[in-house]
Amino acid sequence: MSTLSLTANAPDLERVLIIYTGGTIGMQASSTGLASSGGIDEKVEKALATLPIKERQQLPAYDVLSYSTPIDSSAATPMNWQQLAADIHNNLNRYAGFVVLHGTDTLSWTASSLAYQLQGLDRPVILTGAMQPLDVANSDGQGNIVGSLRFALQADLQEVAIFFAGRLLRGVRSTKRHTEADDAFITPNYPLLGSRVGDDFVYYTTRGLAYQQQGAPRFELPDYAPLANGDVVRITCWPGMAAWQLESWLGDARVKGALLQLWGSGNLGENPAILEVLASASGQGKLLAATSQCPAGSIHLGAYAAGHGVFEAGVLSGADMTAEAAYTKLVHLLGQPISNEQRRTLFVTSLVGER
Ligand code: ASP
Repeated sequence: MSTLSLTANAPDLERVLIIYTGGTIGMQASSTGLASSGGIDEKVEKALATLPIKERQQLPAYDVLSYSTPIDSSAATPMNWQQLAADIHNNLNRYAGFVVLHGTDTLSWTASSLAYQLQGLDRPVILTGAMQPLDVANSDGQGNIVGSLRFALQADLQEVAIFFAGRLLRGVRSTKRHTEADDAFITPNYPLLGSRVGDDFVYYTTRGLAYQQQGAPRFELPDYAPLANGDVVRITCWPGMAAWQLESWLGDARVKGALLQLWGSGNLGENPAILEVLASASGQGKLLAATSQCPAGSIHLGAYAAGHGVFEAGVLSGADMTAEAAYTKLVHLLGQPISNEQRRTLFVTSLVGER
C-alpha cells in the first residue's frame, strides 16, 4: 500500500514524481534511535518553503508517492528494487522525471538494480537521501531534494542517477564511501555526471548514457522473487580463507550465483582446492563473477599467475564495476528467462554504462 498526494497543477510534462521509500531523510527520533516515520509530503513542503523565493520558483511541480511502510534501507531486498522499478514504470508517461527518496545505506544497490531494470530509460530517475533527517536544522536533505528536483527536469539526462551533496553521479557506478560525511557517495571509476555550481545545476551531457547509447525504453522487469532469499551470495576473500569455507557457500544447492571480491587486479592465490571449488560451482551452472576489493581500478583476471586459475575456473570478470553493480547484475541476469551462455555474455557486456 502506498499513498499518492497531488500538489500543484502544472502540466504533466513538467511534473516530477517523488517516491518516498524511507531512510534517514524522513526519520524521526525514537527511544531506540532514528526510526522510519510518515508525513513526508509535509516535511518536503516545509523544507522547500524555507528556500529563497527565486530558488523555489525554479523547482518543478511534484506529486509525492509515499510507501505506507517506509523502511530503513538496510532492510531492503531485491523485492524492494523490483517494486520501485514497477512503480516508476507504471507512472512513466505521467511525469517528466522521478526523484526517489531512499536510505543511504543501500541507496547505491537500489540505484544499480534500477539501472538494469529500466534499460533504455528516456528520462531522469534521481535517487537521493540525507545524512540528517529533513526536519533537523541544517539538514543536508533540503539541498539534496532541491538538486534532485532540478536534475529530474533535465530532459537529456536519461538514466538512473544519484544527486547527493551537490554532485550528480551515475547510479550504477556509485558506492557509499562514508558513514557520516554529507558527500557520502562516489563513483570511483567514473567522472561526475553533473554538479551544482552556485545556483546552477550543470549536467555534463557527453558523460551521460543518452549521449553514449541510443535506444528506446526496453525495460526488463523480471521477477526477483525466486532470488530474494539469498540465492546470490557475495564473498569477500580474506588471507587464509579455506576451501571448505568457500565450499559451504558455493556447494549449497540454493546458491545460483556469487560475487567474489578478490585482491588487487583479480588475484586469489594458487590454492588448487579453492580453484576446484570454483570450477565445480561454475560447472554446475552457477554464475560466478569477480571484482576487486580495492575501491578503485579494474581487475584483469589472468594478469598474474595468482589470478589465472580463477579465470580458468569459469569466473567472469567484473572489470571496474562496483560490488553493487556486479551483484545486482547477477541478480538481474539470473532473474531473466535466458540461457546461462547468454547470461555470461551479457555480464561482460556494458548494458547501462556500468563497466
Ligand atoms: N540507516 C539509514 C538507511 O539507510 C541510513 C540513511 O538513510 O542515511 O535507511
